[in-house]
Amino acid sequence: MDIILLGPPGAGKGTQAQRLVERKGMRQLSTGDMLRAAVKAGTPVGLKAKAVMDRGELVSDEIVSALIGEELDAMAAGQGAIFDGYPRTANQAASLDAILEKRGRVLAHVIELEVNEDALVARICGRYTCANCGKGYHDTFEQPAVAGKCDKCGAHEFKRRPDDNEETVRTRMAEYRAKTAPILPIYEARGIVSRVDGMADIDDVTASIEATING
Ligand code: AMP
Repeated sequence: MDIILLGPPGAGKGTQAQRLVERKGMRQLSTGDMLRAAVKAGTPVGLKAKAVMDRGELVSDEIVSALIGEELDAMAAGQGAIFDGYPRTANQAASLDAILEKRGRVLAHVIELEVNEDALVARICGRYTCANCGKGYHDTFEQPAVAGKCDKCGAHEFKRRPDDNEETVRTRMAEYRAKTAPILPIYEARGIVSRVDGMADIDDVTASIEATING
C-alpha cells in the first residue's frame, strides 16, 4: 500500500514518515532528501537543483519524477512507499499515476496535514537534525536530553538546512499554495483524501495517520 503525505513545508511530513518507517516497515521516498543528497554528491542533478532549492522554488517535474521512479525500482514489490514532498504539481501527480501503474502499485491514501502557516515559520526556522541518523530536533520545541548529543544514536554533529530561513520559507509556502494545494481535488475525486490536524501533538498526528492507513 502506497500513501502520499501532503502539506506545506514544516507540516511534519518528514517526521511522520520516519515514524511510519519504524512502525510499519514502509519506505520514505522524500524528493527533498534525494535532491539534497544529489547536491551533496555534486551529481549533474544536484548541480542543476541547488540554486533553485536555495531560492525555495520547485525543481523540474522531469527531475523529481525520474528520481521517484528509480527509488521505486530499488524497492521490494510488497513494501509500502510513503511519498513525502512528492507530487508537488499537477504534472507530477500525473507522472506518479503512470509510474505506479507501470509497476502494479496502488495509491491507497493521500493524507493532508492541515496546519497554520504562521506557526510553521517558527517551526521551520528552529529545526535541525542529527548529521548521523537524521533524527529531528528543534531549538524551542525539542532539544536532545543531553545538550549536543543525539538521543537516538549518540552522535555529536547536527545540521541545518540552508533553505530553512524565513525568506525562503515564505517562497516555499507560496509555491505550495500555488502549485501543490491545487492537486488535492484530483485525489478527492477518487475518494482517497484524509485530513489530519498537523498542529496536534506529534503522537496524536501519528495515531490519526495510522488509523487512516489501518482503515
Ligand atoms: P523539501 O525537503 O520537501 O522541503 O524540499 C526541499 C526543496 O527541494 C524544495 O523547496 C524544492 O526546491 C525541492 N523539491 C523537493 N521535492 C520537490 C518536488 N516534488 N518537486 C519540485 N521540487 C522539489
